[in-house]
Amino acid sequence: MKKIEEIFPLLDQPKKIVIVMHLKPDADAMGSSLGLFHFLSQFGHSIHVISPTNWAEWLKWMPGANAVIDYEFHTDKANKVLDNADWVFCLDFNTLVRTRHMSQKLRKLNTIKILIDHHQEPAVDDFSYGISDTAKSSTSEMIYDFMVHSGHAKKMNIPIAECLYAGVMTDTGSFRFVSATASVHRMVAALKDIGLQHNKIHEELFDNFLENRLRFIGHVLQNRMDIYYEYNTALISVPWKDLVKFEIKTGDTEGLVNYPLTIKGIKLVALIIDRDEEIKCSFRSKDDFDVNTFARKYFEGGGHFNAAGGRSSGTLEQTIQQFIHAMKESVLQLQQS
Ligand code: 5GP
Ligand code: MN
Repeated sequence: MKKIEEIFPLLDQPKKIVIVMHLKPDADAMGSSLGLFHFLSQFGHSIHVISPTNWAEWLKWMPGANAVIDYEFHTDKANKVLDNADWVFCLDFNTLVRTRHMSQKLRKLNTIKILIDHHQEPAVDDFSYGISDTAKSSTSEMIYDFMVHSGHAKKMNIPIAECLYAGVMTDTGSFRFVSATASVHRMVAALKDIGLQHNKIHEELFDNFLENRLRFIGHVLQNRMDIYYEYNTALISVPWKDLVKFEIKTGDTEGLVNYPLTIKGIKLVALIIDRDEEIKCSFRSKDDFDVNTFARKYFEGGGHFNAAGGRSSGTLEQTIQQFIHAMKESVLQLQQS
């Protein structure tokens, strides 16, 4: 993988560009992709943005979101766009499997692929150019850096600022994680200077749900959460029938995994959801417990040191047992203070 700086001199030459994010995109995946879209549009490129799957209602306010192609629904159109592309940007993921059904297409595609990402252990051989930096708070911060380092900071505008702010704010847990560095705050100051209304973005992301989601969270915290104090661990497991009963849609479970971390002493939280098509796992940790390694070892997944995900091909009950086994094997790290 060659350095990202090598594409800077080529930005001025109009190209056919595709921007791809990870499946079930979060605000950082969607925000960085649309931020880059609004930036590159100013150079006269022809640009398409593709998501491997559908996305949450609470991302639909983002400028440009209505033009994003859902690969699962418009596979032929997306494949055509990919076949014609000169450049494919891959944002907020670092291994092609994170694009689900699109991964085969991307692997076969003989086009320049450019990685911009902040997850651990990138599959660098899959990309022609790129930057992978786990010290970065978010891919949105990296898109901001990309704009500045390429010498085009003046192209920053309100739509870009809104998209990038959404990504950096959510990936830093509203600026509470250690990843919210001085550079992150300087970036936010720069976005404010061009007129970003950050309060509007918080409202769009956090005050825009339907009643059923809050009722669901109440139910799950009351009835589906187990605490293993001996292991400083909490587990929330959600059966498919709960998702049906509360009419839970893509994105409605985002943030649920963080609630048990508010209990004093809890170091590891697992959220295991039976999504019918697969069992999806989310892990969050505090301090020195490494959930990236944990998710890779036990749940075919990965992510960051304190936030990772994975999956299981067993039943919900089997996955719960698998988790309890993994937790017990990790007892030494979990009991360390
Ligand atoms: P979440 O729990 O919110 O789905 O994901 C937490 C973090 O781990 C995110 O940064 C996400 O991109 C990453 N992640 C989630 N699932 C997987 C997975 O199956 N594989 C890898 N490599 N990363 C994942
Ligand atoms: Mn991210």
